[in-house]
Amino acid sequence: MCSEFLWNQKIPLVSWKSICKDKKYGGLGVFSAKTWNCAAALKLLWIIHLKKDSLWIKWVHGNYLQQSDIWQVHVKLNDSWMWKQLLKVRDKLIRRFGSVNSLQNILSKCCIGEKISISGVYRILLQPDQVAAWYNTVWDNISYPKHSFVTWLAIQSRLLTQDRLCGMGILAANQCVMCTNFPESCGHLFFDCQFSALVWNMVMDWLKFSWRSCSWGYIINWYNSRLKRKGFMEKLKRMALTASIYWIWQERNFRIFQSKARQPEKIFRAIRISIFSKIMNDNFPIHIKERIQAL
Ligand SMILES: [Zn+2]
Repeated sequence: MCSEFLWNQKIPLVSWKSICKDKKYGGLGVFSAKTWNCAAALKLLWIIHLKKDSLWIKWVHGNYLQQSDIWQVHVKLNDSWMWKQLLKVRDKLIRRFGSVNSLQNILSKCCIGEKISISGVYRILLQPDQVAAWYNTVWDNISYPKHSFVTWLAIQSRLLTQDRLCGMGILAANQCVMCTNFPESCGHLFFDCQFSALVWNMVMDWLKFSWRSCSWGYIINWYNSRLKRKGFMEKLKRMALTASIYWIWQERNFRIFQSKARQPEKIFRAIRISIFSKIMNDNFPIHIKERIQAL
């Protein structure tokens, strides 16, 4: 249901597994019921392992674990559905973490005293190895969520640009609708295309960028490595990037689906107004508001 809501019943552009990762790790931080279920099953396995003093644990040991322990016991044909599910999760996670010992080590790290934290186990099950380099670039807290979302798709090359549609066999020909001179790809739209380059250059002039480029790879690398501090101008530059991507993508869609075309100046104006209205309407200190008015 959540997936259908997010993608509006169209083809999902990013896998659900990735979406459930935290934003810091490249996802959207959506709750994963499946992973939580695994974490809850692991908690049960752990309290059975610790022989916690409760009637149900005693019953489990008396009925299922007379000659074995919870990590070795085999599933039998007439075991209950719940018991079979528990052992299924156990086997899956032993395979994932390599051995019973390493699984036990991980679970012991999620304990505070004798109590195991399901949310701690959940985080370990969900977290990939690396933080996404572009986390700050995409998810700056002053950017509009819809601008960040489109940037999040663009940065992972998941926007349905014509090069991808051709690859899927949906389109036969690929021609950029902004300049009509080159094939459309993410790198071309942001901001190699002469139309987008005009818009992006206006944005860079406006915010007095000292380092300038219209090449997608260079821009993203520069943002990820040099523009990640919390100063107002850096936040503003991150907001300007996500807004530019959003408005150019919207213009591209207007041209394809509604046969409407606007001039680069109009797009730049929309970017500026969206940034202005956010800064002026949010709880920013007065000196920041004066600073943006002076730009
Ligand atoms: Zn173009």
